[in-house]
Amino acid sequence: MFDSLSDRLSGVFDRLTKQGALSDDDVKTALREVRTALLEADVSLSVARDFVKSVQDKATGQAVTKSVTPGQQVVKIVHDELVATLQGDSDPGKLKIDNPPAPILMVGLQGSGKTTTTAKLAKRLKDREGKRVLMASLDTNRPAAMEQLAILGTQIGVDTLPIIKGETPVQIAKRAKTQAAMGGYDVYMLDTAGRLHIDAELIQQAAEVRDVANPRETLLVVDGLTGQDAVNVATEFDDKIGVTGVVLTRMDGDGRGGAALSMRKVTGKPIRFVGLGEKMDAIETFEAERIAGRILG
Ligand code: GDP
Repeated sequence: MFDSLSDRLSGVFDRLTKQGALSDDDVKTALREVRTALLEADVSLSVARDFVKSVQDKATGQAVTKSVTPGQQVVKIVHDELVATLQGDSDPGKLKIDNPPAPILMVGLQGSGKTTTTAKLAKRLKDREGKRVLMASLDTNRPAAMEQLAILGTQIGVDTLPIIKGETPVQIAKRAKTQAAMGGYDVYMLDTAGRLHIDAELIQQAAEVRDVANPRETLLVVDGLTGQDAVNVATEFDDKIGVTGVVLTRMDGDGRGGAALSMRKVTGKPIRFVGLGEKMDAIETFEAERIAGRILG
């Protein structure tokens, strides 16, 4: 589907004379290819531009090693810079859940995979760390979403807060907190409402819930197949709600995962997990190397 960056660059450098060091022109030509590759991988335009600039500074004047071609050398510089940028947290999979019951707030747009991710993480905490988890859906506009979480809970053996019709998200959050404390849960997860687009009401609601719950972690769930839009979503949620990490879903798809780079650059927040399918075990701790390789193609 795409030419890999390595292929593109060897093509470029085949046409250039090999000199003792990468010349300005070599680097410029190569970086145009890098920029195109990043855009094809769904990295947002502004992020791709900044990224290319930082690679340019590193690559210019660098001596060409005998064992590799100039093309391979630029690929390595790009790869290392990608990994350095993507790497956010030494242990991204470790959620801060001391002082039980620890609240985890899940935010994101509708359809991003928020409810699925909530259940996947709950299962992971139960299976891997032996935690008792309570999940609550705050999506009062969509009864089907509340039902969906309850169904997933039954499927994975994790309790969900009983649904009481007519409650507001804040009331549900308070009830979840009380229930988690009384029931001896280690963690309670709040699956907030999503909308197709960010609007003031969605943000306001999430902010009110945040103020009531005082979450230890606020995870923003983003569809990894979205490009430019992912940046706007992340900026908005981080500015208004404050997030402690990002979960990228649908990384099992055909996408090249450029959203990861955009997210990281724009919010500065670590990517913590990647979703790799619809099944409840299809979630992994984020690894910068893997995504870097994928973006490079
Ligand atoms: P929400 O509206 O954000 O709560 O989204 P849902 O959790 O309901 O997910 C929407 C759809 O995306 C469902 O069909 C999920 O099974 C699917 N989904 C969620 N995460 C992933 C993922 O990592 N990979 C794939 N392929 N599908 C996913």
